[in-house]
Amino acid sequence: MVRVQVKEIVRQNKDAYIDFLSALVQTDTQVIGHGVLGGNERAGQEIIRRKLQQMGFQIDEFCVDDEKIKKYPGANLGHKNDGRPNIVGVRKGTGGGKSLILNGHIDTMPFGDREKWADDPFSGQVKGDVLYGLGSTDMKASLAAMVLAAEVIQTLGVRLKGDLIIQSVVDEEGGGNGTLACVERGYRADAAIVGEPTQLHIQPAHMGFLFHEITVEGKSLHSSQLWEGVNAIDKAIKIYQSLKELEHQWLMTERHPLLPGQTINLGEIKGGIAGSVVPGSCTLKTCLHYQPKPNEPYETTRERVHQQVLDAIDRVVKGDEWLRAHPPKVTVYQEGFPFETPVSHPLVQKVRDVLQEVLQEEAVIEGMPAGCDARLLAGFADIPTIILGCGDPRQCHCIDESVPIDQFLLLIEVYANFIISWCGIES
Ligand SMILES: [Zn+2]
Repeated sequence: MVRVQVKEIVRQNKDAYIDFLSALVQTDTQVIGHGVLGGNERAGQEIIRRKLQQMGFQIDEFCVDDEKIKKYPGANLGHKNDGRPNIVGVRKGTGGGKSLILNGHIDTMPFGDREKWADDPFSGQVKGDVLYGLGSTDMKASLAAMVLAAEVIQTLGVRLKGDLIIQSVVDEEGGGNGTLACVERGYRADAAIVGEPTQLHIQPAHMGFLFHEITVEGKSLHSSQLWEGVNAIDKAIKIYQSLKELEHQWLMTERHPLLPGQTINLGEIKGGIAGSVVPGSCTLKTCLHYQPKPNEPYETTRERVHQQVLDAIDRVVKGDEWLRAHPPKVTVYQEGFPFETPVSHPLVQKVRDVLQEVLQEEAVIEGMPAGCDARLLAGFADIPTIILGCGDPRQCHCIDESVPIDQFLLLIEVYANFIISWCGIES
């Protein structure tokens, strides 16, 4: 019965909901320099704050503080945090229900080359069944849907038993500091949903990532006497080959039901100064993606994978006299844990039931090959978490970004029904 009412409320208020999303898209909330130089989230956060306040949510407004988040591995320190507040809205339940966090980021990547956009990146324009603009898919539509789902529940006139916490965070595109600050501030719940675009698919897991910088030393010399020198690029290539062998081994042995194989990408190579000079140094930058392992702490998985990389490098070093005397320098310069909530967990099961009821079709459960803020809620706050949002992930960070309106409206329904089913309502 409630489900039918929710559908009806969304149908009746559809235009107002689309306007709310348009207004968010029309507001510039770009991060600058991956958050390092700051971000324009404030005006967007004002819209969210006002809406939550109107509904009677208690508002907690706070900026990221490096001093507080630096204890977390993978925290991205040194960003300009002033004037970029997180907005957390809390609606206390009447008691006896389960609590829920809905988490979405307000920041977007920069729009890039404005000339390439058919319309203004901040148009928020609706054409046919699609709403256009920067951040529409990534992820203002899902963030708006979270807030609007709370409005649907208010319109419905029911009272939730469990607490509902809506987190509109900054600096996700800069690496997740906004969510990290929420975790540090102590926000916990029985479950969390991160609204990255998944096309209404349930994603209860994503890959972890580790960036390595490997610097190999050589002996520089004029190329006419190269036998007297040591070519650092040659040595680096050997190391790269060893890493590819490790990747090959992973692809054969490391399997995950929802996620792709583990990979190592060599993304940057710098070495040498001229064709006539034996290069004296070479630096490789790699990013590897790894799977979570069931019943293993994320730190343990991360340590093993990192050690495997060190061992692969070490195998080359052991067989090379020069490298034994001049071992390469290896550092991790960025990273994020994987996360996984078992498919059998009541969170996944309940979301699946709701999705199937709303969509009238089999729900899709899959993994996310990249990473997102879900890892922070799951890894550092121990909250069972899934990713579920509207829009096609291929629309993220692209020219003429857009989101299908029917998916946005369905997501409001899905969120509203799930909140009711998870938090419980007073009868
Ligand atoms: Zn995103």
